[in-house]
Amino acid sequence: MEVKRASVLGFCFGVRRAVEYAEKALEDYSGKKVYSLGPLIHNEIVLQNLKNKGLEILSEDELEKVEAKSVVIIRAHGVSPDVTKALEDKDCVIINATCPRVNANQITVQKASSKGKTIILTGDSNHGEVKGVAGYAQGKFILLENEADALSLPEDDGEAILLSQTTFSPVQFEKISQIVGQKYKNLKINNTICPATKERQDSLIDLCSRVDGVLVIGGKNSANTIRLFQTAQKNCPHAAHIQSAEEIPADFFAFERVGITAGASTPDVIIEQVEKALTK
Ligand code: SF4
Repeated sequence: MEVKRASVLGFCFGVRRAVEYAEKALEDYSGKKVYSLGPLIHNEIVLQNLKNKGLEILSEDELEKVEAKSVVIIRAHGVSPDVTKALEDKDCVIINATCPRVNANQITVQKASSKGKTIILTGDSNHGEVKGVAGYAQGKFILLENEADALSLPEDDGEAILLSQTTFSPVQFEKISQIVGQKYKNLKINNTICPATKERQDSLIDLCSRVDGVLVIGGKNSANTIRLFQTAQKNCPHAAHIQSAEEIPADFFAFERVGITAGASTPDVIIEQVEKALTK
């Protein structure tokens, strides 16, 4: 059997960096309390491994549980300045793993709102990244979750900037930008969607045309893995979503060419285990 990997798969830059920062912090500060505010990654195996090394995962609303002088890892989604300030007040060591793309949005929002511009962000109100970025707005801030929200906006001739949660749907962003562009006469549109998701999707579509079946490896609760699986189902006659090598469906072992891809929070070691299991 021939196993073909998608040309882009697995950890995105921001998630890889956050996991590496966490591993280093657990080594450097062994004996101290080390927390992350929210799960660093949507992958149970990696999280369990970090927990075994001592990482304590709190939710973003559990700041009061953070012990003074402890170590806190800020995940790739970032946090609002209020959270950073609360941790500084507790004398915590802050390991900032905010993805540079998210940090760029935070800086844009801070600068634009300090000049009196209205900030319009597309995104999910419950997402940690959105809460963090919103915290950098000092003046008027509008969150649009969908087209209906955009349609309900009144017309405005003030200066505004439109940007997006990095993992927002590009199609939705395009539709929302057109609506907002008609309402705001002085609007700067800044498409800040991260290319990581599109790169994985595009290389999967290419892979599907060259194999008999595709295995999509990743957590069952990982949104980007689920979207990859949906694309595989549309473009390949056989597709399966698995979390580990043990879950490879039996019929895949009979195929001549099997393609593999993986979500942005799937570690390299699991991808390698699947590859090995197919070829042994
Ligand atoms: S998806 Fe993009 S923005 Fe989000 S953590 Fe990964 S690299 Fe950063």
